[in-house]
Amino acid sequence: MARIKYSTPIVEMQGDEMTRILWDEIKEILLEPYVELNTEYYDLGLEHRDETDDEVTVAAAEAIKKHGVGVKCATITPNAQRVEEYGLKKMWLSPNGTIRAHLDGTVFREPILCESIRPYIPAWTKPIVIARHAYGDVYRNSEIRVDGKAEALLEVKYADGKITRSKIADFAGAGVVQGIHNTDSSIENFARSCFNYALDLKRDLWFATKDTISKTYDRRFKEIFAELYQNEYEKKFQGAGIKYEYSLIDDSVARIIRSNGGMIWALKNYDGDVMSDMVATAFGSLAMMTSVLVSPSGAYEYEAAHGTVTRHYYRYRAGEKTSTNPVATIFAWSGALNKRGEKDGVKELCAFADRLERAVKHTINEGFITGDLKALYQKEGVAPVVLNSQEFLKKISENL
Ligand code: NAP
Ligand code: MG
Repeated sequence: MARIKYSTPIVEMQGDEMTRILWDEIKEILLEPYVELNTEYYDLGLEHRDETDDEVTVAAAEAIKKHGVGVKCATITPNAQRVEEYGLKKMWLSPNGTIRAHLDGTVFREPILCESIRPYIPAWTKPIVIARHAYGDVYRNSEIRVDGKAEALLEVKYADGKITRSKIADFAGAGVVQGIHNTDSSIENFARSCFNYALDLKRDLWFATKDTISKTYDRRFKEIFAELYQNEYEKKFQGAGIKYEYSLIDDSVARIIRSNGGMIWALKNYDGDVMSDMVATAFGSLAMMTSVLVSPSGAYEYEAAHGTVTRHYYRYRAGEKTSTNPVATIFAWSGALNKRGEKDGVKELCAFADRLERAVKHTINEGFITGDLKALYQKEGVAPVVLNSQEFLKKISENL
């Protein structure tokens, strides 16, 4: 059979541990037999990041900017234990953080739905895509422990010397204070990525904050979204038959629970952190969650939302055949191939990506699954069979 070809490379970022093993198997069993993969390869495995003083991560981020499409394997974010385990020169930053900062992008997380895997909220028949603003707020805060009677002030000193002050509180005794910030440009980039991605997927966009309480801070988010929508996106949304809606965060949470899903839910940094775990859990398994980083300039980086599955890797190294779920990593590849095909007008590549995704869902619906899905499986008349990762990939390949 002639393999599918395409000319612009996809930026391929290899990662760590169990997902590194799955990465090679996915390519060998599901991709290379059908597609002549043209990738620009970056090894983001922890050893190689250490050898290159993490320059490889920056180079990969630059390459995504250049080629517009990347696919990334899960990677270890080093902590003190990893520094010791791998004998690292230093505790390198999270590769995802580095890439996100370079692309100034927004991360969209989307669950992969199969009819045989029932969400905990039965009304959720369509995926809910979470868009989390990944800059500022409590993640870049400044905190002070107050020891006794004190006056806490918020002060902004401008470059020209002008000062604006506001009282936070009069402390009668001990307590705590916190300062947080965000910038118009980061909020605008976030809003732009959300509007663009909604148009991409042709799905409604919901955005929510607490602007009734936070009348300056959260209100600024609401205003920037509203201005951008009116000035640049309203007509495009009407043309695509989709809606943009702003609501209060509490109202939004209640409406999401009662909805059938199908929307993109844009959230501030903290809300997005919390709600993405809630949504992932409610849909079933972290191993069935994909993630795409979209830059305001239109570059896309696809990956699985889960990590390197360390516990399975240690068992794999001890000689065990693990039943680690490769689905989100396969969907990272199909997402990247599909986007490459779409950007370059290679229809066969898009068609292959669709077929691959259908083959994965078909395999699960037929009852061939990995261990993590067993407790969630609900299909009349089907007793699911738990396979190891390789057997599962081969089953998908048969269906493909
Ligand atoms: P994890 O790799 O997501 O795994 C946590 C647990 O979730 C696993 O032990 C496993 O549970 C289950 N799980 C996750 N993915 C699975 C899959 N594909 N198939 C089956 N089960 C799956 O999170 P972690 O253990 O907290 O982190 C491990 C490493 O990944 C860390 O070094 C962290 O820095 C890194 N990480 C990277 C990314 C990324 O690159 N995007 C994201 C998160 C974490 P059982 O053991 O109960 O089977
Ligand atoms: Mg979280």
